[in-house]
Amino acid sequence: MTRLSELPLRDDLRGQQPYGAPQLPHAVQLNVNENPHPPSAALVADLAAACATAGASLHRYPDREALELRTRLAAYLSTTAAPAALGAEQVWAANGSNEVLQQLLLAFGGTGRTALGFEPSYSMHRIISTGTGTRWVAARRAEDFTLSPEAAVAAVAEHRPDVTFLTSPNNPTGGALAPRVVSAVLDAAPGMVVVDEAYAEFGSARSALELLPGHPRLVVTRTMSKAFAMAGARVGYLAADAAVVDALRLVRLPYHLSALTQAAALVALDHVEELLATVGAVVEQRRRIERELVALGLRTVPTESNFLLFGPFADPSAVWQRLLDAGVLVRDVSAGEGLAGWLRVSAGTETETTEFLAAMEKVLA
Ligand code: PMP
Repeated sequence: MTRLSELPLRDDLRGQQPYGAPQLPHAVQLNVNENPHPPSAALVADLAAACATAGASLHRYPDREALELRTRLAAYLSTTAAPAALGAEQVWAANGSNEVLQQLLLAFGGTGRTALGFEPSYSMHRIISTGTGTRWVAARRAEDFTLSPEAAVAAVAEHRPDVTFLTSPNNPTGGALAPRVVSAVLDAAPGMVVVDEAYAEFGSARSALELLPGHPRLVVTRTMSKAFAMAGARVGYLAADAAVVDALRLVRLPYHLSALTQAAALVALDHVEELLATVGAVVEQRRRIERELVALGLRTVPTESNFLLFGPFADPSAVWQRLLDAGVLVRDVSAGEGLAGWLRVSAGTETETTEFLAAMEKVLA
């Protein structure tokens, strides 16, 4: 086997690190912001039936337009968050919101173009930008991880990005953006504005979906990986002007969403009430973590998500290791710019959360 450095890799990928949160199935896994509640037996049975039906036609390509799924996702967004009803033509789906983001950058970023995000934020925005040849500009959030409309507008005015990322609620810091920040950026940004709302259902903030009418450069991305508890199915989606969807058709691979994936996502939507009922339980455990960590003398960062930052620690990596030794896997984000001293934990089931808190108490003792 040769070494990576000996291959004719693109210069801009040399020295880059792949995305790589550890996958350790035997630990209490609280490191990738999953929903800890597994699908019900009824959902699994419906999934098996739907896969059997789809399976009988697997010699054919799937619906390239995923029209039934997009229609159902549009209906879901219309009932929960959008001020005006959305149509299927305004919704697009792909294999996780990561693929949606990649398609957006393929269409609106690329060589000679710039994407900007406000860090610390979701590292895949930078990684997917780099992967698509888009120059990445890291603007900063304030010390307390908030983002004011003035700071956001100043960064956008300085760098004139082709794509601006806003993450609300933000990962890994947890807080949501007020709609006036999104409005201000939309007014100032020359290019597309992508509001990543992967965690929207866990918070009480108003969604940027309400700004879609009259803003054809606004894109709101969502996922079934978090509140819907379907991370393994790999389904993400967006809402935007129908012309944005037309742009993505130019770059998506034909038949990118398999028949099995489409079937699984439709079953999830059949069970939407049951799936979203987990949100309350998750938020309850997140609040419990906030309360109990503060009682242990730690600080937490205000969050509207299913996770939170906690610390500060003089040696967060050592705390991370000791938690893992106690069987609990959290996320060491402390190497990130502006995140020195912090760790991130996702809210688990009640039992998992108890294990985390017990491990934390032991580590601090
Ligand atoms: N956006 C944010 C802010 C995330 O934290 C994540 C996953 N952790 C994603 C998008 C991507 O999720 P998925 O591809 O599973 O939809």
